[in-house]
Amino acid sequence: MSNTASPEPLRIAGIVPGSIVDGPGIRFVIFTQGCPHHCPGCHNPKTHDPKGGSEADIPSILARLDEDLLLSGVTFSGGEPFMQAAALVPLAEAVKVRGKNLMVYTGYQYEQLVHMEQPGVQRLLSLADLLVDGPFVLAEKDLTLPYRGSSNQRVIDLVRTREAGEIVLYRSEYEDL
Ligand code: SF4
Repeated sequence: MSNTASPEPLRIAGIVPGSIVDGPGIRFVIFTQGCPHHCPGCHNPKTHDPKGGSEADIPSILARLDEDLLLSGVTFSGGEPFMQAAALVPLAEAVKVRGKNLMVYTGYQYEQLVHMEQPGVQRLLSLADLLVDGPFVLAEKDLTLPYRGSSNQRVIDLVRTREAGEIVLYRSEYEDL
């Protein structure tokens, strides 16, 4: 079943064009605006208001992406990217057309996302290569963990998960995607 209605414009909190902490390699990170999770100790509370931030200019984001030939991939962080899944799908598709891998952060668990029927959620999940899932839990905060803030969060290899039909964790920050 397709949803032909145009999604609301994507709202973002900001962009970091050359991050080495938000996934493997050098990454172009888009922080989406709006988050329903309100995790105590959240590192980025200014992203919570869905009406905050600014409207994203997708062509200009893609032009910036195309300028950086050294990028390994693109990361959608937040905020909660899956709140704006439909608006992110065209951007995710453009990332994959460019041969870049896509990592997505979420405060939901993978098991919740696979049952969500909101527009774009399943398509965005199908385009992502890596998923960092689960809320930030202050009691499980661990700054030594690569790519995540608390030990309850998982870095899921979605490519291998789809192949295996069960959750496969991403094993190494040096592993090829
Ligand atoms: S999911 Fe992320 S942005 Fe949202 S409240 Fe939790 S830590 Fe903050």
